[in-house]
Amino acid sequence: MYSEKLELLIDGTWTAGSAGDSLPLINPATEEQIGTVPCASVQDLDRALDAAGRAFRSWKKTTAAFRWEVLSRAAGLIEARKPEIARTLTLENGKSLREAEGELQFCADATRWYAEEGKRAYGRVIPARSPDIRQMALKEPVGPALGFAAWNFPAGNVTLKIAAALAAGCTIIVKPSDETPGTAVAIGRCFQDAGVPAGALAIVFGPPAPISEHLIASKIPKKVSLTGSTPVGKLLQRLASETLKRCTMELGGHAPAIVFEDADLDRTMDMLAAAKYRNAGQVCTSPTRFYVHETVYEAFIAGFVERSRKVVVGNGLDEGVQMGPLITEWRLGIMDGFVQDAVAKGASVVLGRERLDRKGYFYAPTVLRDVPDDARAMNEEPFGPITQITPFRSFDEVIERANSLPYGLASYIFTRSGSVTAAASDAIESGVVGINHTAVHEAETPFGGVNESGYGAESGIEGLDAYLRTKMVTDKRI
Ligand code: NAD
Repeated sequence: MYSEKLELLIDGTWTAGSAGDSLPLINPATEEQIGTVPCASVQDLDRALDAAGRAFRSWKKTTAAFRWEVLSRAAGLIEARKPEIARTLTLENGKSLREAEGELQFCADATRWYAEEGKRAYGRVIPARSPDIRQMALKEPVGPALGFAAWNFPAGNVTLKIAAALAAGCTIIVKPSDETPGTAVAIGRCFQDAGVPAGALAIVFGPPAPISEHLIASKIPKKVSLTGSTPVGKLLQRLASETLKRCTMELGGHAPAIVFEDADLDRTMDMLAAAKYRNAGQVCTSPTRFYVHETVYEAFIAGFVERSRKVVVGNGLDEGVQMGPLITEWRLGIMDGFVQDAVAKGASVVLGRERLDRKGYFYAPTVLRDVPDDARAMNEEPFGPITQITPFRSFDEVIERANSLPYGLASYIFTRSGSVTAAASDAIESGVVGINHTAVHEAETPFGGVNESGYGAESGIEGLDAYLRTKMVTDKRI
């Protein structure tokens, strides 16, 4: 059933690794072991580092047009292999096949987009103070890069790093999550088969802390890109500071969804329910704090509960399933803890609140109302299918509450008023803002957080720029 061969990619060769250590791979929908993840040894990591340094010296000299060819082929392979990779993704991560296929299409689109954008790594000519001087600000690849990626978008998180780095002329070592290795391997095979040279792309697995410490301590990589939680972001930034590596930090979020009294309520509820239960709420941009104007509060709760009740929960491979399991068993306990704490502080459970009575790490779509601002789940990233609803009265009050957390990744505003839209999108503290919809990340749009949700962006021209540095050349005619 699970067909991906789990290997490390080092210096252009797929290998089982030299240490012989491994981790079990579990299908979260069945709790069965479906594979064995090879762990990289220190020697494997050193080989990957040396190869990344070596390959960089030639890859950076290739033309953007050549890299476009390679990346376009990779995008084509991702698209052609979509059905098999989607199956692997669903078996490891639990999300529905439909969601997995959508994610892979995003990967193909993003790879193509970066391939194109690599041709536009423009510098500029700066008028000089003397007629015999020409001043040029040139863009060049920053160097070998390191990418650490979360399991919640096992294909997307990995592809955005690989495609951006390679398009810019960098090489990259990726450490995907050990929960979703096969998807990363399958994506890596698309790039290898498309003609990425030996060493330009490496994929390693194993215990995250020692691997990240070893890789980041090396002087060879010049850049760290993490998609992961805020605590791990702080840790990796500290490690990167020793060698002053540049970082891109795509970290956790706790997105407010503000529903004003004039919102189109039915459409708002449809969109928010779809966004909330996508990937069982395990999405960094998932709407997590629902602030609903008091005049439409009861209507919103009734409509949202009705939609939540209809969500089809099950094995993502099964036809019609909309929501799969959580990634690991211990996350079920986290959900319970959030609900108990919220109830103890005055919230009421309107729907759900329990693990489903079946194999797999399934948690019921859960709706809590009147959740106080000091409930833990209103402050810590829930990362699960829990909807927390609370009423608000005025614009200033809701903006202040929405901005009260250290996070600042996504936020959503629902209103028909142009002036409320403008005022709210100006006042809200987040890297991306969705007005009357929730699709806040496309291949061509910059995506990233502010404050403790991180800094820097993936996608958009900013995503390519993250792998470029500026060199100023001043040239005097003699
Ligand atoms: P995580 O922080 O535990 O792990 C992320 C990656 O970091 C993994 O590849 C892991 O192996 C690696 N890592 C390196 N050193 C580590 C260390 N010392 N300890 C732990 N991991 C280390 O995050 P996760 O649980 O895999 O993913 C969920 C988090 O990712 C959530 O907070 C979510 O919001 C965030 N996320 C953010 C974005 C974004 O674009 N902002 C996108 C997806 C997920």
